[in-house]
Amino acid sequence: MISFAQAQDNLHQLCQTWLAGQADVSEPLALSESLGRYLTEDVIAALELPRSDVSAMDGYAVCSQDRGGAVTHQVFMLRGESRAGEPYSGDPLRPGECVRIFTGAVVPASADTVVIQENAEREKASVRMLNDTSLGANIRLSGEEISADSVIARAGQLITPNMIPLLASQGIAEVKVRAKLRVAFFATGDELKAAGDTLGEGDIYESNLASIAAVLRYYPIDLINLGVVVDTPEAIKACLAKASDNADVVISSGGVSVGDYDYVRQCVDAMGTVSDYKVAMKPGKPVCFGHLDGEENGKALFFGLPGNAVSSFVVLTELYLPVMKFLINRERVIPTTQLEAILETDLTRRGGRLEFQRAVLSRDEDATGRPTLRVSAMGSQDSHRVLGLARANCTIKLAADVEHIRAGSKVRVSVFPWTDLQ
Ligand code: AMP
Ligand code: MG
Repeated sequence: MISFAQAQDNLHQLCQTWLAGQADVSEPLALSESLGRYLTEDVIAALELPRSDVSAMDGYAVCSQDRGGAVTHQVFMLRGESRAGEPYSGDPLRPGECVRIFTGAVVPASADTVVIQENAEREKASVRMLNDTSLGANIRLSGEEISADSVIARAGQLITPNMIPLLASQGIAEVKVRAKLRVAFFATGDELKAAGDTLGEGDIYESNLASIAAVLRYYPIDLINLGVVVDTPEAIKACLAKASDNADVVISSGGVSVGDYDYVRQCVDAMGTVSDYKVAMKPGKPVCFGHLDGEENGKALFFGLPGNAVSSFVVLTELYLPVMKFLINRERVIPTTQLEAILETDLTRRGGRLEFQRAVLSRDEDATGRPTLRVSAMGSQDSHRVLGLARANCTIKLAADVEHIRAGSKVRVSVFPWTDLQ
């Protein structure tokens, strides 16, 4: 049995070796479709921004050249207006002249300062300035923020909602992003039935396929759901062959422990290589990963999940998801959001394996008003307990050698990425 950290290292190595044999395929995508994808090219500014000198405020653009460093309490003759989308088009302003101007409108070339409207008083065809305004004030200079041909986003960067204003303001309609990772997945088990089927004695409704799809839908992944496969080596081999011919990663559920009908590991061994099985993590000891030698597609990575719903979920999110993110971004493993929180009740457990306890994280304030995170573990941690999983929003990570932790201690938690902490 290997430690969780060793399993992570081995998986990372496996993925790195696999990636080295893969082409980095990219595809053009409409900006509106590109969220959550990774750029494969630098994005170069097509436009300088602002495109010309523009006003930062509503007020008056004045020509004050002969008035020495500041616009003081003088009267300016009003010559026209400049508003967004319709710049001033009259004669160049002469000293002592001004135009009405609005935020974002082009400042006429002959103006040097914008006086905000709160500091000005309109008198028919003239405007009296009420306060001092320093020369050049309230003007955003052309190219001040972005110069043409500068790099505004880098290859490898994740496209997030906060990047959209930048990219859209450059008139960019399409970006080059990395092709999605193709993940084929299937569940094994003669007892598994689909919703709507009648359950015979000992049957259960299959839930891991839906769970895998739900976790992975947040990432740039093409999901290939191969359904439920019966517990025979022939059926499992046929499914593995189909999966490895169509996907980069093959995920199986169930059939990896040491029971008489657990054929997955021996099938993977026959069709490729099992790098590791048995990881000192709880839940999820029967874990098995490696690769498959596909005929059409070259090698595919293989990640085996245990059958129990909770084990399957925890192994997928804690062990495999970080390396799947690495396969997607090719740069580094992004750890799931990890925080430190104060444990609310005493915890006692049997040590020996790194444990991920399902738990509820909440936020409140201490006596001084400082935000504080508190966490309490769900009562029972059995690996089939889906109710506790459903009510949790994080897992508490307990090191293999830890057996007792007192309430009030600080513990590490991984927050489910979709959690919204109110
Ligand atoms: P296994 O790893 O195949 O020995 O399965 C362990 C336990 O998980 C058994 O009680 C199975 O019935 C259950 N199980 C296996 N696969 C699934 C699945 N896809 N959905 C729900 N439960 C499952
Ligand atoms: Mg089974």
